[in-house]
Amino acid sequence: AKHEGKSRLGRIDPSQPASRFARQALIRRSLPQALASKAFTLHYQPLMDIPTGACPAVEALLRWQDPELGAVSPSEFIHVAEHSGMIHAVGRWVIDQACAQARLWADAGTPRAVSVNISPLQLAAGNLVTVIHESLQRHGLPASLLNIEITESAAITDLPSAMAQLRTLISSGIGVALDDYGTAYSSLSLLRELPLTGLKLDKSFIDTIDTDSTSAVLVASVMASARALGLRTTAEGVERETQLEVLRDLGCDTAQGYLIARPLPPAELPDAWPAETRAGATAAGHELDC
Ligand code: C2E
Ligand code: MG
Ligand code: MG
Ligand code: MG
Repeated sequence: AKHEGKSRLGRIDPSQPASRFARQALIRRSLPQALASKAFTLHYQPLMDIPTGACPAVEALLRWQDPELGAVSPSEFIHVAEHSGMIHAVGRWVIDQACAQARLWADAGTPRAVSVNISPLQLAAGNLVTVIHESLQRHGLPASLLNIEITESAAITDLPSAMAQLRTLISSGIGVALDDYGTAYSSLSLLRELPLTGLKLDKSFIDTIDTDSTSAVLVASVMASARALGLRTTAEGVERETQLEVLRDLGCDTAQGYLIARPLPPAELPDAWPAETRAGATAAGHELDC
């Protein structure tokens, strides 16, 4: 108890499990500085088109390396940023940085669409369309090279406003995927209501598709619903070749996971992808860019 009292006064050892509360407090205090001092970077994880083995798109994932805190993962700091209101500035930086990188890839002759994660609070703020369109304009990026991922969440309080914004984004050529489907708030009715172009099945859903027939049946039914609604399907957290085989059989469009690649800094992303080794027989002989 003495230890805890001390750490609440600011003497923090982030290696101590008991100081999680203190680490959260330090994260909250360090966020503004992190944004100002370029402690944030984006890593990019390939999204593989299952039929061809090509990787025409990537997901941008936020990374924060702090001198005091070490590597801080988004699962630790995104909700802190949401509570403190910093998510709006952080979110704008992510959109802008992703557009800048997508423009660099397009200019280099290896165009890749970039998917950006959007907090429900950014949707709630009501200016997401403006923020995104201004960023596209600033970087001269076609809307077709930017996609967003939103999470179904209780935080979508003003559903009509969220829907109107998503509709505007989609009609301007930006893809909108529902992220983490199969977790807490997932419902088929929201899937039907929300303006969407894609659906991402959460890793927890994908984990056992190659070992448990019940979960394969569940995924098959979600795939069928998505297809009926005209949505492109992505499987998250694909780690094994056997999972990829099941997904291919189920007609899943896109795979993402350590099997294909981990999230990487832009300089480490390969220009071309060994499509034939990933996509199997259907892509054999194809030379495809990533
Ligand atoms: P997400 O959007 O569902 O992103 C996928 C997460 O799964 C990433 O974690 C990624 O590194 C991880 N992942 C991908 N493939 C595999 C795999 O095969 N196995 C395993 N075990 N994990 C895999 P990460 O980068 O830690 O991000 C966690 C979450 O933080 C993201 O989940 C997203 O909700 C949020 N996030 C990340 N960047 C941003 C951002 O710029 N803005 C907002 N609002 N949220 C972000
Ligand atoms: Mg995502
Ligand atoms: Mg996800
Ligand atoms: Mg997920």
